[in-house]
Amino acid sequence: MGKILAHDKLIIFFLMFSTGLASLLYEVVLISVVTTVVGATEISLSLVLAAFLCGLAFGALFGGSVAKRLMGTKNGLAYALMGIEAGVALFGFSFLSFLSLFVSSGMGTQVVFLVILAALFIPTVLMGMEIPIAIGALEKKGNAQSAGFVYFSDTLGGVLGSLIAGTVLIPVLGFHGAMYFGALLNVMTLVLATRLIRRWKLFWPAVAAVAAGIVVLAHSTATLQEWKLHFMDSFYGVGSAYYSVYYTTPLFSVQSPYQYIVVLESPFYGRQLLLDGYFQTSERGSLEYHEYLVMPAIAAVSHPERVLLIGGGDGGALYQILKFNISTIEQVDLDEEVVRVSKEYLSGVHRGSLDDPRVKRHIGDGRQFLRNAKDGSYDIIIIDLPDPTKLALAPLYSQEFYREVRRVLKEGGVVVTQFTPPYHYIEGFASEYKTIKSVFPQTYPYVVSGSLQSSFGYIIAGKSGDPRVVRTGDVGGKWYDNESHVSMFDLPPFIDRYLADAPVQVTTDENPIIHTYMQNNYFYRGVADEPYQEAEET
Ligand code: SAM
Repeated sequence: MGKILAHDKLIIFFLMFSTGLASLLYEVVLISVVTTVVGATEISLSLVLAAFLCGLAFGALFGGSVAKRLMGTKNGLAYALMGIEAGVALFGFSFLSFLSLFVSSGMGTQVVFLVILAALFIPTVLMGMEIPIAIGALEKKGNAQSAGFVYFSDTLGGVLGSLIAGTVLIPVLGFHGAMYFGALLNVMTLVLATRLIRRWKLFWPAVAAVAAGIVVLAHSTATLQEWKLHFMDSFYGVGSAYYSVYYTTPLFSVQSPYQYIVVLESPFYGRQLLLDGYFQTSERGSLEYHEYLVMPAIAAVSHPERVLLIGGGDGGALYQILKFNISTIEQVDLDEEVVRVSKEYLSGVHRGSLDDPRVKRHIGDGRQFLRNAKDGSYDIIIIDLPDPTKLALAPLYSQEFYREVRRVLKEGGVVVTQFTPPYHYIEGFASEYKTIKSVFPQTYPYVVSGSLQSSFGYIIAGKSGDPRVVRTGDVGGKWYDNESHVSMFDLPPFIDRYLADAPVQVTTDENPIIHTYMQNNYFYRGVADEPYQEAEET
């Protein structure tokens, strides 16, 4: 009897362990999908975690009453446990495919986000349900006080699942492969669970089926990839955001003291740099983006001699600045690790500029650096920072920051900053425009259409002259040239109107409203309604 008990306990251990592992694995995969497809913000992470815990709570409640009802039956509890394993496995095998199907029907990212949140309930409710049922099953077999053991097994599986999801499974097998791995594990424990009801005949054929599955999976990194390609091909048009996300392979990631740095490889963009989940630059997009960041400012100043770059740790802006005969080029970037990672992985972006001896690099906070800089030190200040989706970045977008920029610029000097295009973040864009304009009356936004990405947004300002006037000729590259300088400033009329009339506030150190705008606009509430309303009327 003791042996049978120990045996049943071991089976329950594996059941709980595998469900815990698979559920947390799915959670990590879905968080990755959410953060890559929808964006990583405090809001998305809070909601995903809340959905997860909510599923567990309701599952436990529901599982308690199921356990009570099945307590009197012969094998009811064991069948319930097997059903749960089957449910978790089914979820793992099918959910991403379902999501792909759903996304291909043209749903917006918010809807995808809600679907993922709702879907998280499935494995977590099952995981929550399993706990009281497993406790009931063990108690029924005479094993009292088993709650601690059941929680332990479940949580241990969860710990392992979260650990290996991000470190091994997703990098090696990709999103789909990782989910299939979790599902297969549940099928295996489902087979094991047949022993709880002493169905020996079922056991060995099931073991053989699972072993075959494992052999397929073991040979399947390439096969899965191929299936994935065929599968995705049937749903996505080339170039859609989802298509490119699914084809992306993580190359490297590291948590620096300031941010989470990720390098991805994508067939569309080449290598991509992400900081805290936000796209920064890519090998294929960099020339275009950085030409438009650097060249208009160079063209707007006559004989620039001293240039300061704030941020730009990937080296793409430096590569452009170095094309010109500028005697002093300084860069200040907060994070040495971004520079190191870019040197190692993003040679297609920096093209050697990060090792160029003409650049004097300071590692430190851009705002602090400006505070210590002398009045009238630079002809041009180029700002290549991440968008202020993180509160820590708001002080580099504030009115006080631009007052320092103004002080540090020479007469006739120009400052330019990148700012995510106004189409999705119009309140944030308008707030930054007004903020810079409150310090520099000659402030002008420009938005250029991108070839791979939809568009790039920038704001340029002159300390004492109009930066729309070309003062240095012969500035040009593959994308920008002096001839296109003036037309760059033509914005769609609805944006002009929005920038002129919308009741958007200036961002200051005391009221870093830009961060709130960016958070709100994340759900695309920032898109001006006007052009869409007209489209509906016609
Ligand atoms: N092109 C980008 C975009 O569209 O978001 C910006 C890219 S660039 C890699 C951003 C750089 O800003 C990073 O190297 C990061 O380390 C740097 N950075 C972040 N906070 C900073 C701060 N307070 N002072 C200076 N540099 C900072």
